[in-house]
Amino acid sequence: MSQKMRSDYCGTLRAADADREVSLCGWVARRREHGEHLAFIDLRDHTGIVQCVVEGAADLRSEYVVRITGKVRVRPADTANADLPTGEIEVGAENVEILSAAEPPPFPLDERTDVDETLRLRHRYLDLRRAPMQHNMRTRAKVNSALRQAMEEQGFVEIETPMLIASTPEGARDFVVPSRLHPGNFYALPQSPQIFKQLCMVGGLDRYYQIARCLRDEDLRADRQFEFLQLDAEMSFAGQEEVFECISHAVAAATEAVTGERPTEFPRMPWREAMERFGSDKPDTRFGMELVELTPLFSATEFKVFQAPSVKGIRIPGGAADVTRKRLDELTEDVKRWGGKGLVWMRVEEDELNSPVAKFLTDDEAAGLRTAMEAEVGDLLFIVADEWKTTVHLLGLLRLAMGRPSLSEGPRNFLWITEFPLFEEMDGDRPIPMHHPFTMPHVDDLELLDPAGGEALLDVRSQSYDLVMNGWELGSGSVRIHRPDIQSQIFTLLGIGPEEAEAKFGFLLDAFRYGAPPHAGFAFGTDRLTALLVGEENIREVIAFPKTQSGADPLTKAPSPLDPVHLNELGLRVLPPAT
Ligand code: ASP
Repeated sequence: MSQKMRSDYCGTLRAADADREVSLCGWVARRREHGEHLAFIDLRDHTGIVQCVVEGAADLRSEYVVRITGKVRVRPADTANADLPTGEIEVGAENVEILSAAEPPPFPLDERTDVDETLRLRHRYLDLRRAPMQHNMRTRAKVNSALRQAMEEQGFVEIETPMLIASTPEGARDFVVPSRLHPGNFYALPQSPQIFKQLCMVGGLDRYYQIARCLRDEDLRADRQFEFLQLDAEMSFAGQEEVFECISHAVAAATEAVTGERPTEFPRMPWREAMERFGSDKPDTRFGMELVELTPLFSATEFKVFQAPSVKGIRIPGGAADVTRKRLDELTEDVKRWGGKGLVWMRVEEDELNSPVAKFLTDDEAAGLRTAMEAEVGDLLFIVADEWKTTVHLLGLLRLAMGRPSLSEGPRNFLWITEFPLFEEMDGDRPIPMHHPFTMPHVDDLELLDPAGGEALLDVRSQSYDLVMNGWELGSGSVRIHRPDIQSQIFTLLGIGPEEAEAKFGFLLDAFRYGAPPHAGFAFGTDRLTALLVGEENIREVIAFPKTQSGADPLTKAPSPLDPVHLNELGLRVLPPAT
């Protein structure tokens, strides 16, 4: 009679299983001698650990793969381990089969996280055996599965878009793939499925989604890898409202799948308000310390430093005593590194503002400042005076430095940021898009789209939006341009002439000439959402095989040189590195 390899998983056995005959398979996590001939073996699989009592276990070492058959028995009360879900029982081994021997692992496979990252990644298959990584991988799968289900419930159709494509502009550098059949020509790997999903709308697919792999050749950070997954969606005959409804539903479902709690609040805030109040387009709204407008108060000031287009401040309650002079000096240096001229700080005392610059303020200004900042004795005030953009940016960073709770603290504050500017900045007299060039301008700002508009173009609002949570940007989207005339107008503004537009996006403009429905969409990083839900600061912890900070894979040694035959076939010659 054929027998299954295992009857149970290690971590699932309980007192109710007493006297059952079980077969367990897994890795030897730990062994402790128990007298001369007996050993306790902690057997591990992805569900957890169970103690097995093994006679003659001399051959069993750490990470050996074994199959243990035996009887479950309740441990004597004084040896039960309350910290372990299986702690009330043990398995008296009757038969032990070694399925694979193992060399000693290069690092302990426990909860510890202080192991060198390169070592962990070089042996990622061992790292993945650790309980926290098992949890992260399985949470990730739960997130993806909940997202799929939520999207399908709402009528979205899963469609795969190609990996070898012409470039899609998302503002990053493309990864390129040389073509063997067309020497000297290259495919780009998708920075996003943007153009294809819009073509799907012209193709009548109505609601598209995909958990899409996107590739961007950018510097890596804690929340950024070269390749990442996003829940990518597009919907026809729909605008911002429909997108918010569908994406909020999907995010709520994924959050509930992981945490058991369903978020119900998805408030909105226009971009301008987010910048004014929090100094960030991805505000962490778990705490206050909002930016206070001081420009009118100092409009006629004699104090040179405050003679700036924008003066704002933040108040750190109780900060006068808590924040040392040394820390203030460090923060002042930070502000300079972040692009500011400096930082004005003031300690609020009973009868004066204690600050190196207090003497430059009139009594009225000092009193006005106290009132505007709602300052109380013992508070610390930070004031920045600069161009508006710099002032809010610096105070936004200072606010985070002074008040940001850790990832796991407080509520999950989802927030839609709306009405982003259409353009981020000017490159000479040419604007650079904030999102991507397919974003519909705000209907009320269409007449501002003047190629000679100069800096005024930066005031043009768009119909694009981000979803943020606790200071992290989860994703972005927009209502798209579906009219070829407006799309051409935007290309012209961006300095993409008719010929270049035709060469790069001719197919899209063509498609729009054959009846394009109004459409809108969104995409958000599922790696980021998963990391946030499991409380990891770095998305590498929720990706099975990530790259290091320098973009390398210590496991497979990618990237690596190509052998000359292969290079030849591709018609490529490698130049010495530029000096
Ligand atoms: N393609 C955009 C991105 O990857 C998202 C979108 O507009 O739908 O950021």
